[in-house]
Amino acid sequence: MLTITLKPGKEKSLLRRHPWIFASAIDRVEGKPEEKAKSGSTAVVQSSSGQFLARAAFSPKSQIRARVWSFDQNEPIDHALIKRRIRNALSYRTSSVRDTDAIRLIFGEADGFPGLVVDWYAGKQGTLVCQFQSAGVEAWKVPIVQALISETGCPNVYERSDASVREREGLPLVTGVLAGDEPGTEIHVVENGVHYAVDIKHGHKTGFYIDQRDNRRLVMEQAAGREVLNCFCYTGGFSLAALKGGAASVLSIDSSADALETGKRNMALNDFAPSLAEWRDADVFKTLRALREQGRTFDLVVLDPPKFASSPDHVERAARAYKDINLLGMQLLREGGLLFTYSCSGAISADLFQKIVAGAVNDARVDARIVRRLSAGIDHPMTTSFPEGEYLKGLMLQKP
Ligand code: SAH
Repeated sequence: MLTITLKPGKEKSLLRRHPWIFASAIDRVEGKPEEKAKSGSTAVVQSSSGQFLARAAFSPKSQIRARVWSFDQNEPIDHALIKRRIRNALSYRTSSVRDTDAIRLIFGEADGFPGLVVDWYAGKQGTLVCQFQSAGVEAWKVPIVQALISETGCPNVYERSDASVREREGLPLVTGVLAGDEPGTEIHVVENGVHYAVDIKHGHKTGFYIDQRDNRRLVMEQAAGREVLNCFCYTGGFSLAALKGGAASVLSIDSSADALETGKRNMALNDFAPSLAEWRDADVFKTLRALREQGRTFDLVVLDPPKFASSPDHVERAARAYKDINLLGMQLLREGGLLFTYSCSGAISADLFQKIVAGAVNDARVDARIVRRLSAGIDHPMTTSFPEGEYLKGLMLQKP
């Protein structure tokens, strides 16, 4: 049996049920050499005085040296636990998620699977797309896939474990079919009445930013008759939602030509007149400045950039980038206009984000009202003991 003994005092975060054990907190790891070498072995974690704290997945190469499976001494880590947790995750989504067939089924720590993401597209005939991002879930991949299939009734499972966080766990980047059919280049989903094409194999992450569903809906509800600017549009999530809500026009900007092509196909899927939308393959920072110089203005602006701060070390630089685009976004807004602005950097708290945006508004020499605080959808819960799970935050502002 693999046993991890913590340094004195280092049990505190575990007693608060935080699920990560950093290498620096560990005094010693004891067990057979093959258990110690094996990535993903289950270990008992104990305090320096020998008190049981948790069972956790051991990750010999990662700074996060172990991730907790269970704080309950009587709960074995086995196939039944995996099945039970997948069933719970599914039952929560079934009862809470509405008006879509693009659902985050498993969201890591919040669903009891540290480092696992499973997005389910297009129902039973569709595909489950998985990202295994830690040693523990990697070691249990086969039973996890079996349980996903048996609980959902969807036989097609595709792996997109190609995010660089895998390397920090000492795991290779892999993609490919785990079960069932090879997915086509495009799967179609319908979210709040809007049709979207999702490229599971080549798209970002698992293919679609499911987390922005509620925010796309909010934009849909506010878009009627408005001229919309959608920055960092990817495949046009917010653009299509705005058009569904009756937007007068949408200018969408992204630096990925492939994503823009999908965005244009989404126009056709929804029978929207191509003339309502302009898709610009360009850098947002430069384009916002150019639009300002041209004197262009909009009634509704969306800023949904990629993660600017990938770690706490990058917060300052990221803050400058967020401030820059928000300042420009505010300046491009007409009186009475709405700005929807987001950050998906886990290292930037909702509080800090609001301060950055407030600074941008101030520098733009305008007034702005916070109408709503925004977050990820209901299928992206976070546990109270793991605030790191709250990565997406946003604000809806109005220029009076
Ligand atoms: N709002 C989208 C998701 C945005 S993801 C949705 O709801 O689906 C962030 C996007 O920003 C990616 O598509 C990426 O290609 C784009 N991007 C990153 N840096 C950029 C830049 N400097 N200029 C333009 N686009 C950029």
